[in-house]
Amino acid sequence: MLLSYELLGKLFVFLLVAVVLVTGIALLLGAISIRRHKIIFPNFILFMLYLFYSPAKWICRGFSIKEEIVDEILIEVRNAVMLDMFKEKTERRAVILPQCMRHPECKARCDPIMGYECTKCGKCDIKDIIEAAEKHNFKVFTVPGDSFVRKILQYYNPDACLGVACYVELTESMQSVSKFMPVQGVCLIRDGCYDTKVDVAEVIHKMEICDV
Ligand code: SF4
Repeated sequence: MLLSYELLGKLFVFLLVAVVLVTGIALLLGAISIRRHKIIFPNFILFMLYLFYSPAKWICRGFSIKEEIVDEILIEVRNAVMLDMFKEKTERRAVILPQCMRHPECKARCDPIMGYECTKCGKCDIKDIIEAAEKHNFKVFTVPGDSFVRKILQYYNPDACLGVACYVELTESMQSVSKFMPVQGVCLIRDGCYDTKVDVAEVIHKMEICDV
C-alpha cells in the first residue's frame, strides 16, 4: 500500500512536470510566432493554451512575464488561423463592440436584443467604426455583455464576426464563437469597465482586408 502511494506521488510529480514543460513549449512557440509574424504549430498552441490556460498564466507569473501574453498569443494565433476563412465571407459580417467603449455621456438607447443603438453623435470612436463598417459591409453591435453576443448570434446569425474586448473576454468569446464561424479579434488598448479604447485603425484595417 505504501509503495502504491509512493508510485502515485511520483506519477503526480511526473504529470505536473510534463504539463509545465508542454505548456512552456506552447508559450514559447506562441511568443516566437507573434515576434516573427509567422505561426508555428497553431493547433498545438491553441489546444495546449486553452487546455492549460491557468497553468500557463502561473508559469508567466513565475517568470515575471505579464500574464496577458497568454491571451495575446491565443488571440493572434486564432486571428492567423481564421484570417482566410474570415476574408471569404462577404455577407452578414458583424462587428461586436463592448458597451464600455461608449462615451460616459452617451444617450444611446439599449435594445433588449441588438444592444445599444448608436446615434453617431461623435462623442466616442464607435461613430467612426460604424461609418467604416457601412462602407465595408459590416454591421456593428455595441453590447453590454456575453448574453447579448448569444442573442446576436441567434437573431442576426452572422457568417463572420470581428470582436473587440479586453484580453480575457476576447480570448473566451473567440474560442466559443469560432466553433460556429470564422472570427477575428482586436484587443482594447485601454480596458476597464468604463470609457475604454481600441485602436480604431486596426479595427478598420480588419474590415478593409475583406475587400481585397
Ligand atoms: S457615438 Fe454613439 S456610442 Fe458613442 S457616445 Fe455617441 S451615441 Fe453613444
